[in-house]
Amino acid sequence: MTTRVCKLIGAPVQDGAGRRGCEMGPSALRTAGLAEAIASLGHRVDDLGTLCAPPPRPASFPNPALKNLPQVAAWVETLAEVAFAASAEGSMPVFMGGDHSLSAGTVAGLARRAALLGRPLFVLWLDAHPDFHSLRSTESGNIHGTPVAYLTGQPGFAGGLPKLAATVEPGHVAMLGIRSVDAAERRALTDSGITVFDMRAIDEHSVAPLLRQVLERVRALDGLLHVSLDVDFLDPSIAPAVGTTVPGGASFREAHLVMEMLHDSGLVSSLDLVELNPFLDERGRTAMLLVDLVASLFGRRVLDRPTRSF
Ligand code: MG
Ligand code: MG
Repeated sequence: MTTRVCKLIGAPVQDGAGRRGCEMGPSALRTAGLAEAIASLGHRVDDLGTLCAPPPRPASFPNPALKNLPQVAAWVETLAEVAFAASAEGSMPVFMGGDHSLSAGTVAGLARRAALLGRPLFVLWLDAHPDFHSLRSTESGNIHGTPVAYLTGQPGFAGGLPKLAATVEPGHVAMLGIRSVDAAERRALTDSGITVFDMRAIDEHSVAPLLRQVLERVRALDGLLHVSLDVDFLDPSIAPAVGTTVPGGASFREAHLVMEMLHDSGLVSSLDLVELNPFLDERGRTAMLLVDLVASLFGRRVLDRPTRSF
């Protein structure tokens, strides 16, 4: 087994979500034993603490629906720097969110790192939603619905979010678990080059062959692989602590299989855990499930699982 140096970073961003509570995510993940779970598998864990909200950054964009743009823009700028620094020397940053707008920052910094290394950055987006709105097309104004469009260099962000040092090639983005897409996103996704495996694809083919295709491409191009796990990827019956539940999500075993295959591939270089809203949880069960999934990603095997009642 390869021993990793894992850097835990709390990113208590909630300005990009429609409801408050994601700022408690890092605390809940620590309480559920994230660091201990990773360390128990033989990896080194450095908990770098939880970031403080930076002062709002001057930002404007002609869409009156946008919420908290200067706050989110400041987080994006800060997290891009933090992610760039934390990914030096082969370390594996794990960002404990925070809503999904934080990925606009983390992936921006990781794309800069990958460009410096001369390797392509691939992104696996595990989510009910493609998060492919621009600052122009979003009607809710919740910026957590925009990071993939931003990171792949789509139009509709100038003046709003910081200029990217490096974009992610749309052909290097794969989405898994999608089941809620707005009309504007559907139009923009068509011909974007992004791979979209929706829940129907998972139902028809099962998750393993779909993910294997993605991993084979990453390996063939010697890419780095960032995984962005939105809690709403999971079925709400097993993961209620999220403000954007959509029925029909990934099951317990599908989600673990994804994580186990990611571990076996040895390709994952960074991870976001986003949209956990502990205010909506039931006695911490969603936070504990996330910790279990991360343990699978770091090498826990099915046969190692303790028997436990819920
Ligand atoms: Mg999302
Ligand atoms: Mg989502």
